[in-house]
Order: sequence, then structure tokens, then C-alpha cells
Amino acid sequence: MRLDRRDFLKLSALVGATTLSGFGFSNFLYAQSPPTFIPMKNGGRELEAKIDPFTGELVLNENIFMRHSSCLGCYSSCGNRVKLNKKTGQMLSVSGNPFSPSSTQPHLSLNSPLKDAYYATGQYKNLGLTHRATLCARGQGTLETHYDPYRILTPLKRAGKRGSGKWKPISWQEAVQETVHGGALFKELGESREIEGLQQIRDTKTLLDSNQPEFGSKANQLALLGGRGDGRTHFAARFASAYGTVNMFTHGSS
Ligand code: SF4
Repeated sequence: MRLDRRDFLKLSALVGATTLSGFGFSNFLYAQSPPTFIPMKNGGRELEAKIDPFTGELVLNENIFMRHSSCLGCYSSCGNRVKLNKKTGQMLSVSGNPFSPSSTQPHLSLNSPLKDAYYATGQYKNLGLTHRATLCARGQGTLETHYDPYRILTPLKRAGKRGSGKWKPISWQEAVQETVHGGALFKELGESREIEGLQQIRDTKTLLDSNQPEFGSKANQLALLGGRGDGRTHFAARFASAYGTVNMFTHGSS
């Protein structure tokens, strides 16, 4: 079939109109359709609340409580919003905190009632489009980190030769006792060496090495190595200062 210019333009217009109504419009309507406000039974996680998309009536799910906090996935400490099972305390999901300027702009006023956070994540009056807060993928991943079966939750003590990669869990009491008082801590491994504890090395008057006075006092044997700011840095810095060591390093220390 031969198309002249006029036929081609007519055909192009028809194809364009069909595309708009057949795909473009349906997608648009789908995006704008009212959200379901019935908690899902067979998939996804339980919803924390129901919001009537027409009246704005808010009904909280009594099985769930929400907490607003900060993500420690990285140094940015964005605001997060954590969904927990009220009975078990299990964390169900993490999302953005609509009160936090790091999670959304514009953010909710800190004077706003907490219930506004529910609206900020829903579609009543399109509020979810204005204040919807998000976390980055890494922030979402903190849920997995929290429940990671390999996450270290207790102090580990060397249980083999140095470099052997063998460790055993010990209690916090044991860790504090050994760190503070020292002793022959590895005698069960055949190492008779006495290791000084924090108590013995807390000496701010005696030089660590009289040949190298620039090393400062014996108390400088204690070195605190920290990561990025996680809220504990200031406590650690105060401890280091009170102890008498200058060796306190954190992310960004030079
Ligand atoms: S949400 Fe992402 S950028 Fe923000 S603190 Fe968590 S990991 Fe960092």
C-alpha cells in the first residue's frame, strides 16, 4: 500500500490518539486512583493505619506502633520511621520520617501532631505527595542489618593463635573485667603473657617511652577507634579525656 503525505499524517494522528487513550490515560488513571485502605491479608506487611481517602478518617492498627528516629545506615543520620509489632517488638519495616528535613522537603513542622505522619504517607488530599518521606536503599537495608544472623551482639575474645580467625563469645561482665584488670588473659591457649588492663596503664605522669617523649604518657596506650558519628562519639571522647589519653580517633580524624 502506498501512503501519500496526507494519509501518513492522518495515520500518525490516529496512532498518537490511540496511544494516549490506550496507554497514557490508563496509566494516569491508575496513578491517580484511590489507594486501597484495607490492610493486605495475603501479601506485604500489615498496614499501620487505615485512612478513608474521602473523609480522612484515621483508624490506627492496634497491633502496630510507629516510632520516629534516626537512620544510622551512614553518617547522614536521616530521620526514619520504624514500624514495630506491638506484642513482639519485632521491627517490621523502616521508612522515611516526614518530620525530618533530611527525609523530605517540605517536612512536617515539629509541632505537628504525630497523626499527621500517617497522612503524610497516605493519599488523602494528596498529602502523601507533599510530605512523603523516604530513605535511601541503604537506609531501607538497615532492617536486614538489624536482623542479620551474623550481626555481632556480644564481645568476642580470641580463641586461637593470632591470625587464626578463631573467636569465642564472652559476656559483657567478662569483657569489662578483663579489659580493666588485665592478667594472663590467654593462658588457656598456652600464652603466659600478662596483659595490663586499663587500670594499670592509666598513668598520666610516667612517659610511655623515655627515649621518645613525643609519645606522651603511659595512658596514651589506650587508643579509642571509632567509626562514623553514631551518637556515642561524644561519650567516648569524654571518657578518653577523663582517662588521660590523647588517642581518640573517629571518622574524619587526621
Ligand atoms: S537513609 Fe541513607 S543516606 Fe540517610 S542515614 Fe540512612 S543510609 Fe545514610
